[in-house]
Amino acid sequence: MGKVAVAFAAAAVVAACSVAAVMVRRRVKSRRKWRSVVEILKELEEGCDTPVGRLRQVVDAMAVEMHAGLASEGGSKLKMLLTFVHELPKGTEKGTYYALHLGGTYFRILRVHLGGERSYLDVQDVERHPIPSHLMNSTSEVLFNFLAFSLERFIEKEGDGSSSQGVKRELAFTFSFPVKHSSISSGVLIKWTKGFEISEMVGRDIAECLQVALNTRGLDMHVAALVNDTVGALSLGYYHDPDTVVAVVFGTGSNACYLERTDAIIKSQGLLTTSGSMVVNMEWGNFWSSHLPRTSYDIDLDAESSNSNDMGFEKMIAGMYLGDIVRRVILRMSQESDIFGPSSSLLSEPYVLRTNLVSAMHEDDTPELQEVARILKDLGVSEVPLKVRKLVVKVCDVVTRRVGRLAAAGIAGILKKIGRDGSGGITSGRSRSENQMQRRTVVAVEGGLYMNYTMFREYMEEALVEILGEEVSQYVVVKAMEDGSSIGSALLVASSQ
Ligand code: ADP
Ligand code: MG
Repeated sequence: MGKVAVAFAAAAVVAACSVAAVMVRRRVKSRRKWRSVVEILKELEEGCDTPVGRLRQVVDAMAVEMHAGLASEGGSKLKMLLTFVHELPKGTEKGTYYALHLGGTYFRILRVHLGGERSYLDVQDVERHPIPSHLMNSTSEVLFNFLAFSLERFIEKEGDGSSSQGVKRELAFTFSFPVKHSSISSGVLIKWTKGFEISEMVGRDIAECLQVALNTRGLDMHVAALVNDTVGALSLGYYHDPDTVVAVVFGTGSNACYLERTDAIIKSQGLLTTSGSMVVNMEWGNFWSSHLPRTSYDIDLDAESSNSNDMGFEKMIAGMYLGDIVRRVILRMSQESDIFGPSSSLLSEPYVLRTNLVSAMHEDDTPELQEVARILKDLGVSEVPLKVRKLVVKVCDVVTRRVGRLAAAGIAGILKKIGRDGSGGITSGRSRSENQMQRRTVVAVEGGLYMNYTMFREYMEEALVEILGEEVSQYVVVKAMEDGSSIGSALLVASSQ
């Protein structure tokens, strides 16, 4: 070999070595980055951990807070609001009734016709529309004019076939925000939640606002009841099955109500009802306990929300927030490594990852996780390898599992308070008779998160059995109530006529 050839070969070896060195360095670097992402996941898993012992502490805290909220006004973060609903629909109601439901994301209008027997419940003309976002921080006039206008259009479509032509129409207003009631048909707004901000409405009578808007439009409709969405769901549950004593909503927000004995509502002594009980709207979104597994993502989400330091439980379990917790985790992963490619500014936008997208990714059963890839692409993250897509699914799983398990703990807390968890309840003077322990208890559940997210539902139901034990959980039935909050509110108007 000549000198030139030797020099050439030597240079080639050096070049090959340095290429190899660069590749090794890159591999080491990428492994280190992958490790940092795995660390973030591990930290998330630890932060979201909900072993059954911890869930039981949440159950106890919920039952204790319920008790405190019933004992005195302001005695707990749980407001435990009186609803003045003491009779639930029995199934013998007759007539045609309307419901208008303002939720957190959707508003719905429907008409029900009741024939005097359970099987004669005819739900007619259900309309469901997204609430135009500008209404959420408009004025009360704009909001109620919009609702009255929507009702007017709904009624115009009825034509001559309507059974209630010429008769004043009785309307239930299902309102999914905290209200302090003075009767079943009147009450003032305590505060907004779920991103609504029309401050001038706080303290005003919600039913009256709607009635005035209807009158102004010349609509012959009477706002006969102002109903929390949970109370609507309870009413529909009870109509079909009188063992229904608890209702929970998992939608944009989350809340629960249940049937309480009036003598346990200590803060309203002398409260007399014909049934000896009253539905209590817990407003459980505001529940808080140091036993709740709170992560840095929850803390940041709360700090950046329009209602910080408020609605702590809702922010951990409701549909409005679940997606944003997942987004925050993915964003951090993308900032601390390049596994998602060049960082996407879209991912930094609050609430851009909606919970329906989380469930679509979580439940993606295509072999290559194409749905995950598609959704990530829409978020400005394209061409992520399968390994990273799997990681995203894992994040969805960890967050949703926590939501499901905390939801179950909340429900078990109510069961404990009313002595249906097999433990005889807390200090409410209930007897521990065998009989009471084994009464069948139906929990009516509704809301978009529950109805559409199978994995959430499964985690919740699994945890409920884990908390209550196999034996007691045989007596606890969770029943889905699609559109329960709207239909049930109309039934409530019917039963209060
Ligand atoms: P509202 O809260 O207005 O009464 P819903 O009860 O229908 O309305 O709940 C809507 C919420 O349910 C959405 O904001 C979202 O958080 C959640 N949701 C809707 N569809 C899905 C889905 N496919 N998977 C998971 N969550 C969903
Ligand atoms: Mg709802």
